Amino acid sequence: KRMEIGPTEHGINPKLVDERALNVVRTLQQAGFEAYIVGGAVRDLMLGLAPKDFDVATNATPEQVKGLFRRAFIIGRRFRIVHVVYGRGREHEVIEVSTFRAFLDNAAAEQVAGNEKTSKSELAGMKHAVDSTGRVLRDNVWGPQDEDAARRDFTINAMYYDPETQIVVDYHHGIKDAKARVIRMIGDPVARYREDPVRIIRAIRFVAKLHGLGFKLEPKTATPLVKSRALLTEIPQSRLFDEMLKLLQTGHALASIEQLKTLGMAQGIYPLLDVVVERAETPFVQSALQDTDRRVGEGKPVAPSFLLACVLWADVRDGWAARLKNQHPHPALMDAIDDVFNARIGDVSGRGKLAGDMREIWMMQPRFEKRVGSAPFGLVEQPRFRAAFDFMRLRAENGELEEVLSDWWEEFSLADDNLRNDMVDAVK
Ligand code: ATP
Ligand code: MG
Repeated sequence: KRMEIGPTEHGINPKLVDERALNVVRTLQQAGFEAYIVGGAVRDLMLGLAPKDFDVATNATPEQVKGLFRRAFIIGRRFRIVHVVYGRGREHEVIEVSTFRAFLDNAAAEQVAGNEKTSKSELAGMKHAVDSTGRVLRDNVWGPQDEDAARRDFTINAMYYDPETQIVVDYHHGIKDAKARVIRMIGDPVARYREDPVRIIRAIRFVAKLHGLGFKLEPKTATPLVKSRALLTEIPQSRLFDEMLKLLQTGHALASIEQLKTLGMAQGIYPLLDVVVERAETPFVQSALQDTDRRVGEGKPVAPSFLLACVLWADVRDGWAARLKNQHPHPALMDAIDDVFNARIGDVSGRGKLAGDMREIWMMQPRFEKRVGSAPFGLVEQPRFRAAFDFMRLRAENGELEEVLSDWWEEFSLADDNLRNDMVDAVK
């Protein structure tokens, strides 16, 4: 069952392995533990793609891992892992280290949760991680590597790479599937979607990401998707929101929407995603999605606030126009924005920063049309000017404003004070 595959067969270029990840593996191994690069990074390395982040799996417990690194933090309640941090500020990098976990089916998990004896030895010091369903607990029962592999989602996501020996450990024919361009759920797909419905969204994300390389969902993995979709109602809104952002912000937004349609799931995954899919047809939202994919492809940062501001702009604009009949422009816009947040974002708590950034992008829009006096000088100094400007330019490119206006602001933002004064004078 356990297969060890050498470099000629897996073809991983060791130069693509991140140095920090290598250092984490080496440190753990030198302390006598097993350690591997695991999951999406192995998949991407094997396909010749540069992984966006590196995860490490080990038989060391979180406490043991933490003890080996200067800056390491145990995080997560549902799923305790260690973040090993390198560098500082914007350049910092995090290697996620997780301990091999046991594969427990629902019955076994309930037994562990309900039975003091089993849980005592295996879960010393982790009582806080227990909940009534056994779910949280289950995710933190340590186990051997083969069980760790079995609880992962797709065969191509369940391989372990030892960068020291350059051997890939594979329990579920991940290499064979990678070569055959197949995305296949480990185990019985129906049961695995029931166990964690978020895997439905992950299936879509991976086929969108990899279909350009010729990947397809294996039929038994694809068929239950539509029926399983109803299970997503059990998932907390905040987790769905995060998964939606992963679909839209990892460089394959348009491909993901394409896949949602192909698979018959254009609607019904998450309300806000329904809106995105509907509006992906409009030129404005389509160009926003295209821009996002392009920027991610170029390694540039993307902000969810910008994309969501684009997606919901039509509501804000229409609501604002309707309110202008009885209100002054500024309060009308503020109230229109509140209406949109209430209707569309709902109670996704902890999104204060995101909502604040969206609001600023929208509130700045009317100010681009006032090019007199000191107003433009104030606007260009706003911390969120760049995002609001990019948003305005997108509106101009889509015929909502004159393109000369966005050209003017582009030039103004780059000009010195003398030229800026001349530019404002020339507007009158
Ligand atoms: P990406 O390149 O987008 O990060 P990834 O495969 O690394 O893709 P992660 O969300 O980073 O995805 O998860 C890391 C690994 O953890 C996966 O490759 C998979 O083995 C496992 N995993 C993550 N989420 C689940 C899940 N819901 N069910 C089972 N296994 C999962
Ligand atoms: Mg990953």
